[in-house]
Amino acid sequence: MSRLFSLADIFGRLLEAYGPQHWWPADSSFEMMVGAVLTQNTAWSNVEKAMERLRANRLLDAAAILSFPEEKLCEVIRPSGYFRVKSARLRGLCRFLVDGGGNPSRFEKVPTPELREQLLSVKGIGPETADSILLYAFSRPVFVVDSYTVRLLDRLGRLPGKGTYSEVQDLFMRGLDPDSALFNEYHALVVIHGKERCRKKNPLCEGCPLHEICGKG
Ligand code: SF4
Repeated sequence: MSRLFSLADIFGRLLEAYGPQHWWPADSSFEMMVGAVLTQNTAWSNVEKAMERLRANRLLDAAAILSFPEEKLCEVIRPSGYFRVKSARLRGLCRFLVDGGGNPSRFEKVPTPELREQLLSVKGIGPETADSILLYAFSRPVFVVDSYTVRLLDRLGRLPGKGTYSEVQDLFMRGLDPDSALFNEYHALVVIHGKERCRKKNPLCEGCPLHEICGKG
């Protein structure tokens, strides 16, 4: 039977069960941003293949991507799926970075709400991708919401309102300290929990670290 519990309680239980996740798996801020675009609607293993090909073609640089022929860029990132759409989104993001000086550090002084609006103005960058970039590439305390987050809250009986992106994000950002390291780890733990245990079909409720506080398990 479920009972009242805090977001910190959920975090503690997930951390104890899975340990620190050390996200985001990338060597630079730019790689994190590229990964945030390529991971849309695909598994991370496909993103890794596309990243390897970008690296092999010396394309882990905004200016290099912009000067690379679009058709060839599509071919390079093909393993990530939806490669034409993603190629256009990647180029849009690179244009945004280059117009801003080409170096992510140039954005350090831009307030988070303003930077978020700027990212959202790039075609194809939606709230989840923008917030992933803000959190993982710019270390801004912005909680990233994805389908794993919504499913978990729903199963825990804690989905706010209609479960929209901003409602779920508000829940976390009001309920936790504005700490980018905490938001980073929390999101990573929700993802691993959603992949390994709280799956869409046939969740593995027996032995779940949240079983005691879950309305569904
Ligand atoms: S008990 Fe089951 S439904 Fe609830 S969080 Fe765990 S795996 Fe998900």
